[in-house]
Amino acid sequence: MQFSQRVYCGQLTPEDVGRQVLLAGWVDAYRDHGGLLFVHLRDRSGIVQIVFNPATTAEDVCRQAAGLRAEYCVAVRGEVCPRLAGTENPHIETGTIEVMVAELTVLAESEPTPFAVSEKAMIAGAATAGSDPVAEDLRLQFRYLDLRRPSMRDHLVRRHRIFQCVREFLDAQGFVEVETPMLTMSTPEGARDYLVPSRVHAGSFYALPQSPQLFKQLLMVGGLERYFQLARCFRDEDLRPNRQPEFTQLDLEASFIDEEFIYALIEELTARMFAVGGIALARPFARMTWTEAMETTGSDRPDLRFGLRFVDVTDLFVNTNYSIFKQILQRGGCIKGINIQGQSEKLSKNVLQNEYAKEIAPSFGAKGMTWMRVEGGRFESNIVQYFSPAELDGLRQRFGVADGDVLIMVADPSYSVVVSALGQLRLHLAHRLGLVPADRFCPVWITEFPLFEPTEDGGVTSSHHPFTAPDRTDFDPANIEDLLSLRSRSYDLVVNGEELGGGSIRISDRDVQRKIFAALGLGEEETREKFGFFLRAFDFGAPPHGGLALGMDRTVSMILQTPSIREVIAFPKNRSAACPLTGAPSVVAREQLAELGLLDLGGRDLLPGDAQKDDPIDRLSWVSRIGFAADERPMLEAVRAQAETLADLAAERAGTEDPIFTVAPVANRLRPGTEARPSPLAENGRLLQSAPAVKGDYFKVATILE
Ligand code: ASP
Repeated sequence: MQFSQRVYCGQLTPEDVGRQVLLAGWVDAYRDHGGLLFVHLRDRSGIVQIVFNPATTAEDVCRQAAGLRAEYCVAVRGEVCPRLAGTENPHIETGTIEVMVAELTVLAESEPTPFAVSEKAMIAGAATAGSDPVAEDLRLQFRYLDLRRPSMRDHLVRRHRIFQCVREFLDAQGFVEVETPMLTMSTPEGARDYLVPSRVHAGSFYALPQSPQLFKQLLMVGGLERYFQLARCFRDEDLRPNRQPEFTQLDLEASFIDEEFIYALIEELTARMFAVGGIALARPFARMTWTEAMETTGSDRPDLRFGLRFVDVTDLFVNTNYSIFKQILQRGGCIKGINIQGQSEKLSKNVLQNEYAKEIAPSFGAKGMTWMRVEGGRFESNIVQYFSPAELDGLRQRFGVADGDVLIMVADPSYSVVVSALGQLRLHLAHRLGLVPADRFCPVWITEFPLFEPTEDGGVTSSHHPFTAPDRTDFDPANIEDLLSLRSRSYDLVVNGEELGGGSIRISDRDVQRKIFAALGLGEEETREKFGFFLRAFDFGAPPHGGLALGMDRTVSMILQTPSIREVIAFPKNRSAACPLTGAPSVVAREQLAELGLLDLGGRDLLPGDAQKDDPIDRLSWVSRIGFAADERPMLEAVRAQAETLADLAAERAGTEDPIFTVAPVANRLRPGTEARPSPLAENGRLLQSAPAVKGDYFKVATILE
């Protein structure tokens, strides 16, 4: 087989008619028309129909072809021919031609696949092969088959194109791609670290990087001036549907720059990346301060594809007689609302009162929700009678109401409850009322975040990370109020309500950096221990610098408009952070743990529950989660001793011709005073109904036993 002569299936065109070609790929689908065999042959470029015709193809080749099955890997030689009129398939690019096969080589057979790989129907008129949706874990377990699907391959190819576009653009801007270590020290990005034990330094651990933050700043101190990396980052966070424990960031940093440099650079780059997916982004991107975003949308990731902005009406009710508002305002609260224009037909009194006011708003944390429909120039609501004409007029003007509008308002003593609940109502209503245009992309920079957030113990924590520059440096690290009033020189890039990335101008002054650590409550010794090496670098003329990181999995997923980020990652973890293909994470042998010095970790600082593990009976109780009374202990000890004797006996007999299969006679054992309750599933035989069915290494059993 001369593979050097091979041409790609998807690249054949009517101009190739008459050409002898060598093709290689996989059997996507086949159809037998009484001896005349049609096969869809698929390779990475696409699909072409190949034909085994007893009238023109040698008999032994036809016989061999009759044995072809889906996903066999084959090579064929044949002639490109036009299809007969009426047999064209408009759903494949090569649908006007086919290849009449003269030679066939089966390169590798395939077992029946656990799900259909083919996505294209062979029958003209049916666009897809009409396969059932496949469970995601099964797709991930056989990811190599899933990746043969043209749509998945297309995702990876386009991801590659987007990455190429990033590299080309940044290279042209003078950025240098540098790799930073994977085995490193903890980076403070707010998540837990994945730790890697060191064998050479037993008892010590590397941390996998949550981001290359410290290294990229050190590269700036190192004089690189413009760095980027398509960096793999690791964060041990709580599971969320669109989150991966390891993910790819476009990480970059530059010296002698300010925010405007970053905005211009990233807007150009983002527009180029989206253009790869055929999406034109309008520029310049919108900008909103964090305060404005919270005030008008209740979110620091505002979805700007639709209106429904908040209107503050607190001042209209300072002298109100409506007792609920009155009490809330007396407690320093606020009132904000949204005008849902022209939607009163879809938002009946019943929906507003019984669904939104009673159920949905409380589920978003609001204690209640006030609503008003506007009909015939009048407000209609269950509480409108409590408002004065002046208050109603005020609402009319403030919201600019017209007939058909619906007002909703949330009032609460807590500002954050108001904006958070109203923000969630805003999104809920927009989706329910179909106000979110799927084909619009609204990028926005969110700026001037609070530098710190309060912690429960009366201190502060960084909203981003501790290297973000504050808007002023004259703060007192011991004055919490002063600290909470600081804004940061950070920026997030948000598109359609999703944060694609963010970054900041950094602190390049060592004294300011020390003050920030002090504000965070890190003592000198702790600071030295954790960041000494980093702070030391700032003793040697650090340049002003800043940067940003963009989540590439999210960005690519948004550009390709896939339902999850897992669709654009070759081998992702599933929703429970596990890999169904390799079985990771998995247990490791005791020997391996011992070699890493991990067997006796903890010393006297036992983990909760470990104390019980010392006594064998307590340990049994602990692992089986079955408690027992003190007077049951002697009986359990006797049973355990008996089991041990039998186990010893079994061990002695192991390898002899007469091994023991059960160490005790089989009998139901019940606690005194309890009665056997046969399961109805056992009685009607359904208990083991699916017992012969095997999944992986397990027998399937009725759910009750799982
Ligand atoms: N290191 C930050 C992150 O990963 C990004 C940055 O500040 O550049 O979120």
